Amino acid sequence: MQNGIIHQKFWSRSAEGLPIALYRKDNNSPSRFRDKKPLLFVGGMHGDEPEGVRLAQDLLQWLTLEASTESSSDYWPWILIPCLNVEGFQNKQRTNSRGVDLNRNFPTADWTQSPQRDRYYTGPAPASEPEVKSLVSLISAEQPRVIFHFHSWNPCLIYTGDPGKNFAETLTVGNNYPVKAEIGYPTPGSLGEWGWHSMKTPVICIEEQEHSDLDQVWPHFSAGLKKILQGEVS
Ligand SMILES: [Zn+2]
Repeated sequence: MQNGIIHQKFWSRSAEGLPIALYRKDNNSPSRFRDKKPLLFVGGMHGDEPEGVRLAQDLLQWLTLEASTESSSDYWPWILIPCLNVEGFQNKQRTNSRGVDLNRNFPTADWTQSPQRDRYYTGPAPASEPEVKSLVSLISAEQPRVIFHFHSWNPCLIYTGDPGKNFAETLTVGNNYPVKAEIGYPTPGSLGEWGWHSMKTPVICIEEQEHSDLDQVWPHFSAGLKKILQGEVS
């Protein structure tokens, strides 16, 4: 532990044994938010979206700096996984090394095995992948207040579950990206669908512009993320 932040270097492991790290605020320090359920931030669900990993890393860097200053503000409890799909990130591919799209492998009620092994392959069974299994256990145990996962594609903020709308709108401060409710098309096995329909936890998917200048990602979302972490959004 360092500066009120707990670092689990080996929180989980990928199918090939690469470590997956998790960081969390140490809730033993005094805080007016101490009894609140944590906010969960997940980067790197898709290995070919470096913007999402960079956003998670820069958010962690900011939280670490804040925790080390004596005048640091009081923050909501949080848990942060900088890169869930460590294998995909290493190989610069969407799926993990077993070819599974992690965002189609969550155990939603409507999960079905996809007919072909393309880049949206759902896997051999729901939650068959170690990365997804670990995240499902974490969410079941922690019951986060809101889950945020970081991607890149066409820029937008997608919320699943009405209680997530305010959070998604707050994240447009600094970028003016559109906010969408996840109703466009069914996404069986996605974190959004599982989180909201099975766990009643609102889920926000942050989509940065793909192929962005990585230095510009944090400035696009820092104001919104800071407001949320300071407990200004409900
Ligand atoms: Zn993605």
